[in-house]
Amino acid sequence: MTIHKTDEALGFIPLPGDKGKPITVVGTEAIRDSFDQICLDQAVNSRMAPGVTDVILNPDGHAGYGAPVGCVMVSPTHIYPGPVGVDIKCSMSLLQLDIPEDAIADKATRRALINAIVERTPTGAGRGQRSVKKGRHVDELTGIPAVTEGATARVCQALGIPPEWALRCEDSTHHGHDGTYDALHTRLDFILAEGRIRNFADKIGQLGSYGGGNHFGECEITRVTGQRPTADGFGLKDGHVSFLSHCGSRGFGNLLAQGQFRDLEKKFRTWSTPFPAGDKQLVYAPLGTPEADAYLDDMALGANFATVNHLLINALVLEAFQEVLPGAKGQLVYFISHNIAREEIVDGQKSWVHRKGATRAIPGGHFSLAGTPFAKTGHPILLPGNPRDGSVVMVAKAGAEKTAWSVNHGAGRRMGRKHAARTLDQRAVDSDFDKHDILSNCRKYPIDEAPDAYKDFPEVLRSVESAGLAETVAKLQARFVIKD
Ligand code: 5GP
Ligand code: MN
Ligand code: MN
Repeated sequence: MTIHKTDEALGFIPLPGDKGKPITVVGTEAIRDSFDQICLDQAVNSRMAPGVTDVILNPDGHAGYGAPVGCVMVSPTHIYPGPVGVDIKCSMSLLQLDIPEDAIADKATRRALINAIVERTPTGAGRGQRSVKKGRHVDELTGIPAVTEGATARVCQALGIPPEWALRCEDSTHHGHDGTYDALHTRLDFILAEGRIRNFADKIGQLGSYGGGNHFGECEITRVTGQRPTADGFGLKDGHVSFLSHCGSRGFGNLLAQGQFRDLEKKFRTWSTPFPAGDKQLVYAPLGTPEADAYLDDMALGANFATVNHLLINALVLEAFQEVLPGAKGQLVYFISHNIAREEIVDGQKSWVHRKGATRAIPGGHFSLAGTPFAKTGHPILLPGNPRDGSVVMVAKAGAEKTAWSVNHGAGRRMGRKHAARTLDQRAVDSDFDKHDILSNCRKYPIDEAPDAYKDFPEVLRSVESAGLAETVAKLQARFVIKD
């Protein structure tokens, strides 16, 4: 399969028989060479699937579930659960503190911060608030409104989240398929009665936790490198400490997603409907059907969990900073997802934009940001790279229209987990962290999460900027990482 080059960092993959809009590919030559065959096949399969009108493959693209991780899939008529993924609304959030970088220069202070944070926000599969000393009490009384409403004022109040943070979210609440919370209550009652969510109380108790694997919390120094007014508008403070979080909807979202995959696969088989390109991971539901409604409700429940999860984590992280450095203040910069389907206008048409390891990128002045704190500037785009090479905050440019108002979601994996464990050297990874004076809560840094397991982040950023999609506002330099 060939990627035709149109620009330094833009290209396309024509569709078989040249029928329809080609797949847009973002990436310099080095990046174009980094896509594996499975990833390219998945991009074509997704593009050719029923009702799909556009697919964009981003520089962080690699093989995923049905569709590549690092792609955008647009459909005005169909919803695709696989490309939203098993971690519904996996997201990034950034907390800006008013602490100058010197205050955390010494290792002892950073160690104290790590301890104060892990005492409040657990990491690891299955772990929730009950497994930490200083967490919040989260039970069904607070948890049910959290998943059915998202970050409403009363949910924020019940959990000790500053309610104004809800304004600094891509979406602070998700409704049911018919636009009501009632739909979500009905759906939640149904799935609980069916026993789909094993140990619901435990799952709810996972609000305010990172989970395992690729999820992390990372202490940063904010370095403003781009336009000052935009950085100020975002609330970024040059030379000050910030905190970046990556996690999603934990066990709750996972069970909802897996349940949907199972339900739809079964229906496809009873209807004798073929899977797109023979791939059951590309099951879909036409909008307006009971199947689509059920999926949209489950996606909304999972998405609300992820939203409240992130906001609670940020509240707990702020509390941890205040314990170690009394008087510290913090403000949420933004909370934005990279695993979600949203209804948006693309090429003049109302469509479901599936961002699968992709981030919404809307510039200032666009109608969809009216009434938000970012109407003039455009919203912050939070892009994790890796602890060694840093992460960035970007802002979209008008050019993002050609990629369905989207950019990548990070560096993207270069190696699978097993490949990384086989080829990377534990001692070299750990001494690299020492050399850069980056601490971690892990005694040995997880080898399959090492910076070199991911693609070249500077090259990924060059691709995004050269394609005219977004520009860098600030760099984030890691000072410690919390991972499982
Ligand atoms: P995901 O796991 O959601 O597909 O990818 C998120 C992105 O986060 C990855 O592509 C990678 O670039 C980035 N990433 C993974 N681990 C870390 C980390 O510990 N620190 C930072 N800053 N970025 C990371
Ligand atoms: Mn995730
Ligand atoms: Mn993620």
